[in-house]
Amino acid sequence: MILTLKLPMQGPLNHVNAYLIRDGNESLLIDTGLPTQEAMLTLTNYLKEYGYPNYVIITHYHPDHIGLVRLFKDSNIFIHEKEIEYLNFILSNEYEKEMKNYLLSNGFPEDIIDRMFRNRDRFYEIIKGVNFNKVIDGDTIKVGGSEIKILWTPGHTMGHICIKYNEILFCGDHILPNITPNVSLLRVNDNPLKSYLDSLDKIEKINGKIYPAHGEPINNVKERIEEIKEHHKNRLEEILKIIEMKGKVNGFEIAMNISWYKKWDELSNFDKQLAIGETLAHIKYLLEKNAIKQTNIGNKIYYTKN
Ligand SMILES: [Zn+2]
Repeated sequence: MILTLKLPMQGPLNHVNAYLIRDGNESLLIDTGLPTQEAMLTLTNYLKEYGYPNYVIITHYHPDHIGLVRLFKDSNIFIHEKEIEYLNFILSNEYEKEMKNYLLSNGFPEDIIDRMFRNRDRFYEIIKGVNFNKVIDGDTIKVGGSEIKILWTPGHTMGHICIKYNEILFCGDHILPNITPNVSLLRVNDNPLKSYLDSLDKIEKINGKIYPAHGEPINNVKERIEEIKEHHKNRLEEILKIIEMKGKVNGFEIAMNISWYKKWDELSNFDKQLAIGETLAHIKYLLEKNAIKQTNIGNKIYYTKN
């Protein structure tokens, strides 16, 4: 039996779906919701009715998925090994130094950058005292009479996983029905958009129902994947055009000229952060494709067409 636990969150997404699978005399929870009072009440009410799970799988480290993991200290908790690596990295001074420097070199304003690094401490609180079991691609977990399979789908985060249970795929934020999942650059040497597009190919071959972490189940997987690929293709072309038109630009100029759903100045601070990550992920993809060239002048980075 599969139960969808709709947990509240603010903003356009409105909710996150946690899923509770009951198989034989065991149960598995996929994702936990935001670390808010409201989400905790909703989740614990569900669990009072259906029981606490033996196993918990976290699809990725974002707060709406890992947020309430501390409620499950008595369960076996699983997460991809890369997510632990990234959580540690994000909490490190090395990350702050590396990324701040990179963002400044790309011309992004200091006040936005400072805000990006401000809330990292909450991850300490979220994962404090939690024992994670690390999984990798292809791992299986026995729950009741069934085998749950882990599929590594890096991109939205570098340790993002989907979970296969019989003919059903729980896809976390890898594919969403109503928005294109954010793909952001978190480490200077990553190429998350390349990883993401490769991970879409990995899922395309899967038949069966797809349960996303936000919104309703997806029936037309292939179609949805094509739409998402098209979106990134268009954005890459748009960035190439911006660079072509302006000749030599930095990352901030590119970000400001992309046609987001609102004008740059009208975007919320949170949206700006997502937009910055998204811009850098696309720039990185174009660089590694040799479609554009990077020039460093002093500590400033500029892009030109190749
Ligand atoms: Zn999410």
